[in-house]
Amino acid sequence: AAELVGRQALDFYANPSDRAQLLEQLTQNGFLQNYEVQAKKVDGSLVWVSASLRLLVFDGEAALLSVFSEITERKQSEARLRLMERAIEASSNGIVLTDASQPDNPIIYVNPAFEAMTGYAAAEIVGHNCRFLQGADRAQTNLQILRSAVRARKECHVTLRNYRKDGTPFWNELHVSPVFDPNGRVTHFVGIQTDISDRKLMEDQLVHAALHDALTQLPNRVLFMNRLNQAINRSQHDPTHRFAMLFLDLDRFKVVNDSLGHIVGDQLLVAIAQRLQTCLRPENIIARLGGDEFTILIDSIQQESDATRVAEHIQQALRVPFNLNGSEIFTTASIGIAFSTPDYTRPEQVLRDADAALYQAKERGRACQAVFDSQMYEQAVALLQLETDLRRAIERQELRVFYQPIVSLTAGKVVGFEALVRWQHPQRGLISPDQFIPVAEETGLIIDIGRWVLQESCQQLCQWQRQFPSDSPLTMSVNLSVKQFSQPDLAKYVAQVLQKTGIDPACLKLEITESGIMHNDQSSAELLSHLQQLQVQLCIDDFGTGYSSLSRLHQFPINTLKIDRAFIRSMTLGEDTEMVKTIITLAQNLGMDVVAEGIESLPQLVQLRQLGCEFGQGYLFAKPLNAQAAEALLESDPSW
Ligand code: C2E
Ligand code: CA
Ligand code: CA
Repeated sequence: AAELVGRQALDFYANPSDRAQLLEQLTQNGFLQNYEVQAKKVDGSLVWVSASLRLLVFDGEAALLSVFSEITERKQSEARLRLMERAIEASSNGIVLTDASQPDNPIIYVNPAFEAMTGYAAAEIVGHNCRFLQGADRAQTNLQILRSAVRARKECHVTLRNYRKDGTPFWNELHVSPVFDPNGRVTHFVGIQTDISDRKLMEDQLVHAALHDALTQLPNRVLFMNRLNQAINRSQHDPTHRFAMLFLDLDRFKVVNDSLGHIVGDQLLVAIAQRLQTCLRPENIIARLGGDEFTILIDSIQQESDATRVAEHIQQALRVPFNLNGSEIFTTASIGIAFSTPDYTRPEQVLRDADAALYQAKERGRACQAVFDSQMYEQAVALLQLETDLRRAIERQELRVFYQPIVSLTAGKVVGFEALVRWQHPQRGLISPDQFIPVAEETGLIIDIGRWVLQESCQQLCQWQRQFPSDSPLTMSVNLSVKQFSQPDLAKYVAQVLQKTGIDPACLKLEITESGIMHNDQSSAELLSHLQQLQVQLCIDDFGTGYSSLSRLHQFPINTLKIDRAFIRSMTLGEDTEMVKTIITLAQNLGMDVVAEGIESLPQLVQLRQLGCEFGQGYLFAKPLNAQAAEALLESDPSW
């Protein structure tokens, strides 16, 4: 007080503008009530005060009575509130306040973002409960979670399907918190909401993409395995619940893809997916595993015929040709079937067995089906082992070429050899080509094997020709399988080998089966003429067993027909002699050589000589021999 005596009362106020205002009002009215103003403390800091001032007469003198109370705290919290209000107004989240003290928890405030999000104006909804946002969609589980949280006066976080004023739905991610009064009673709820429809859509698309095949939109392997797993679980809990899995593979899809292109191939897959769906009930799952492989889960079957009938139905449906870009495409499918057993605990096991059955179905020919049995599994395992071993066979140099002499029946002398591959398996011993060539074909390993055989046998021929020179040099016959024959760069490779070994191309004979040639007559005609240009000889192997139409034979540049050994065998029984005679006559008329293979007995030899057959091959002369033994044979120069 001592410090203040003598000072200007109005100096106490911080701002000159306040001072001017106060002075003006005082002179006008003589008093001033609850004027809120900033004052300066003695240390210079500012405080808010509520001031009431009055002019009066004190001791006969004009005086000013000032009464203050400090309101700094209230002022600050008011400022904070204003700030928050602004924040709420400006928030891009929808914000809604409800009055928890009222029976139906009515809305007392919504911010502009809420109005924008829902399409409702604040005025239309204040006083109502929020439930109108769900429209008739009141059975959502998350709604129950929200209701019980509100009932328990707790915080909660849910995603709800909401509807805008115009009826369009959106996904509302809602965060609701109670507001407590100082006594701990809930007075309000604050809801903060975000429209997450876009995010939700993207999530759904991601989930869909992860579980579906992009081309056909069918479920993919992941989803299929998941469903298969569910089926396994169900049948483990309830053994009467049985299911079947179908594994379907198109028979000639690669041909379509290669000849008509990937775009048509893709279109065909889509069309097939659609057609397959029409063969199935909605509860059955159909998936595309990749490529031309489809899998089907037939859940809950009574008996096995329930599944085999579906397989037949599918094959029937696929028989109707597909019309794509104006061309008709015929396809068939092979189907392997596995039925649920108590042994299955993992979906991979079912898939594996259906796959083994599929393999069997393919073995039986096109458009076949097969049901899995345990024997198939063992076969499949053995086959897989063989395949694995075969992959290593080439690099480990386990392959051998054996040579079987081809004899001139008129001269009785060896004129050449047929190269026949063998596999010297480290555990299983010498394996015949019948056991591994089909696997090599299927896996594509035949390409490497075939190249190696060609290289090896031509080198051998070169050596023998030098060792045993003759006016008519020795020939070498090398087998080409269908797969090798459809290699576009075959002619190039043959040319390389010829160049490397330096043998006369006319001494090399390539043996192709009838089906190999007829398989794809456009490209095979081309390939044959390429080979012909190299001047190598071409021979039809196993002649008489295929489907070649004799009338078309002359269209191909063939030098030799090799009569299949089945005819030679039955000739001795008095059968097929006419057939052999016809082939020999035909060949002579077309200017081709004839080789009879599988000559095992003297009577066969005699008969073939009588029929005018020029060349022969068979156990009677020699079995296929390793290089050393074949060389010894040449050395001894036998006659028959
Ligand atoms: P193929 O081309 O018809 O070969 C003749 C087969 O008949 C050979 O069987 C040979 O050992 C056998 N054989 C020869 N003379 C007689 C006989 O008097 N009686 C009987 N019962 N059989 C005789 P192999 O060596 O087991 O070859 C089987 C098939 O494997 C061949 O049939 C050929 O299709 C294929 N093959 C062999 N080597 C190769 C090869 O290097 N490449 C390709 N792509 N296939 C090959
Ligand atoms: Ca042959
Ligand atoms: Ca043959």
